[in-house]
Parts: sequence; structure tokens; C-alpha cells
Amino acid sequence: VIFVQNFDPVQAAYVHIPFCRRRCYYCDFPVAIVGDRRRGEASGTIARYLDFLCQEISLTPKMGLPLTTIFLGGGTPSLLSPRQLQRVLDALSAQFGRSVCAEVSIEMDPGTFDQEQIRAYRNCGINRVSLGAQAFQPELLSLCGRSHAVADIYAAVDDLRQADIKNFSLDLISGLPTQTLTQWQASLDEVVAIAPPHISVYDLIVEPVTAFGRRYKPGLEPLPPEDTTAEMYRLAQQTLTAAGYHHYEISNYAKPGFECRHNRVYWENRPFYGFGMGAASYQSGQRVTRPRTTQDYYQWVKEMTECARSPRHSSSESQDLASRSALRDALLEVIMLGLRLAEGLHLDRLVPQFGSDWITPLHQCLEPYIQCGWVEWNPIPEASSASSTRSTKTAVQLRLTDPEGFLFSNTVLSKVFACLGPD
Ligand code: SF4
Repeated sequence: VIFVQNFDPVQAAYVHIPFCRRRCYYCDFPVAIVGDRRRGEASGTIARYLDFLCQEISLTPKMGLPLTTIFLGGGTPSLLSPRQLQRVLDALSAQFGRSVCAEVSIEMDPGTFDQEQIRAYRNCGINRVSLGAQAFQPELLSLCGRSHAVADIYAAVDDLRQADIKNFSLDLISGLPTQTLTQWQASLDEVVAIAPPHISVYDLIVEPVTAFGRRYKPGLEPLPPEDTTAEMYRLAQQTLTAAGYHHYEISNYAKPGFECRHNRVYWENRPFYGFGMGAASYQSGQRVTRPRTTQDYYQWVKEMTECARSPRHSSSESQDLASRSALRDALLEVIMLGLRLAEGLHLDRLVPQFGSDWITPLHQCLEPYIQCGWVEWNPIPEASSASSTRSTKTAVQLRLTDPEGFLFSNTVLSKVFACLGPD
């Protein structure tokens, strides 16, 4: 088997803006806390970070065509002033170029911006906003340590609409401590009434390093039991699809034409640049994750600068992608990501890269899940399969069913790992 590295042109960039007013109790993201008053130009911490961030961008070689998607995530990127945001977007455009119809997304938290700010962001090129609502019950927001109130969510949506940002998403979290099915249904109903074109629904994961991790034990009260969280997932699927949203990814719903183009890059295993503290990039088949604290990240950029000045030190180690284990890891990654999407994977498209000797064993190990309706193994009719490598054996669409297959995706993936993983 010959492994062909993924040298697709890079046309997507993720930029991490790590600043938050305070840390939410469930959050283990790489963030730096700046408090309620320091933001924009008033924060020396933010200004210093942007210097390093723009330095990293300017030192990164262009690997592809102009950017078609940019995603500013965090953290709370809406703590940047419009001028600071413009500086970051200008740095990206100068280095990589930007397509005129690029999707430029930013994560924003309710209560961190007003209409004037979002208008200024739009003038900088922002055309998509992801808004962290999380819940519509004041007691749940405060139990999570969120900095915003329920009224801030409505005000934020109003400001987005007034500023003519038509493409925006609301995030919700299920499985919160003390959260009941009734509260969850109420949050879903609120979101449907607001009618954003995109909705993300995440199931809480209690990470050990968080305040929740110190306070709660997975599976124990006040966390809802597993059958309740499963019911929450089903309720979301029923409520949102009935309201006209397409459940296009395990945690994401969209009205037609409003799927997040940037996140599809990840799920389709396409390459992307990553910039900033804790950010991951994926270029030439290599995933690189940056340091998770500001000081370590600054040191990392300084070393990058030194390497750029003395090119003899700059050779990066290339992965031995031809080895059997690297090939297997790459295949598992493609399957794991692809099964997140409603359309799943077309296995015949993987054959040029990974050969076909894994397909029959995979089919056999998934057979019980095909039988119970969690997995679909659909032969693709000749006319609709464009691959020249297709055969009756490989022209197959593999997907998880909605909602049961998505709900039990971890069980299915464990089986896939056991089947294709280390011998
Ligand atoms: S606002 Fe988001 S990134 Fe910041 S601490 Fe809360 S969950 Fe984490």
C-alpha cells in the first residue's frame, strides 16, 4: 500500500483569541482571563498577544490558494476592538490572500458587544457569528459560571440582526448539572423561536481539570443520568428537525445553505492553518498543536522567528507516513471525522490512499450495528459513483443513523478502532 500525503491546497485558517472575562466552570480550553473591565486596546495583555499572533501569521509559508474560510475562536474573540480584529484579518490577507466570498466567522459571547461593535466587525469582513447562549435558565447560566444573563442573549441576537448579520449560530449545552428534560425542552423551544440559521448542540463533558471536574463525578448526581442525556439528544433532534433544520453533523443543525463551511474542513479531513495559543494546524499530513499558555506560546513564536532568520535550523521533521501504523492512524482519523457528518463516508474515495484490504473486516465488525440500525452500509448505484476505482466491494456509503447511530457513535467508533487499530 502506498500512502499518498494529503497535499490539498490549504484554504482555511483557524485563529485562537484566548481571552475571557472569567473561566466558565466546565471549560478546559486554552484561555487567559482578563476580568470584566480589560478589553480591546485597554488591555496590554491582549495587545501583546496580538503582536505574537501576527508575527506567527507573517512567518507561516503560504501553502495554498487564497483563504475561503477563516474562523476566529476562543476564548472570547469579541473582546477584541474592531481595530484589533482588522489587524488580524489584514495579517491573514497579506500572507495568504482571501477569496472575495470567504466565510469569516467569529465566536462572540452575549454581553460582550453592542450594535456599534458588530457593525464595525462587519465592516472588517466578518460575515458569520457563533454566539454562545448555552442555556435559557438563569440558574443554569450561573451554575456554569457564565458571564452573561438570559436577557443578554436576546439583546445580542437583536444587535446581530440590526447589524444585518444574517448568518449566525447559537450554541446550547445539554447534560448540565441539575438540568431537567423540561428545562432542556424550554431551551430548544427558545432557540426555535429565535430562529437562527444555525444551531450547535453540545453534550457536557466533565473534564477533570475544570471546576466541574473537581465538583462532580461523571454518572453521579446532580449530573443527569445517561438515559436522560440520551433523551436530551433525541429531543434536540426531534425539535430542531421538525423546525426545518438539517442535522448535518453529530452536534450541528442548519437551515439550507447555512452549514458552517469552516468546520466542514475539519470533518472532511482537509488541511487548515492554525494560529495562536493552543491552536492546531493540519498541513502536509502533519498536525501541530501550539503551546497552551501565553508564555509558552510567546517562546514558541520567538523560536519560530529565530528559525526563520537562520533557515538551516528550520527543517521540520517529516512524519513517516508510509509506515503501517501511521497509515492505520490516518485511516482511523478519516473514519472518525467522516462519521460525524450525516452523509458519512464514501469508502471508495479512500481506496487510492489506503488500499481496500480493510473494507471487508470493517464490514464484518460493523455487522451487529448495521443489524440494530445504528450504522448504514449503503452500496452506491453505479451511476452516482464517480470514482474510477469503484467496485461492488468498495462503492459504499458508510454512515451513522440519526439519532440512534449518532447517539451511540462512541460505541461504534470503539469497535472500528478495535477492528482496524493496533494488531
Ligand atoms: S467563554 Fe467559552 S472559552 Fe471562555 S471560559 Fe467560557 S466556555 Fe471557555
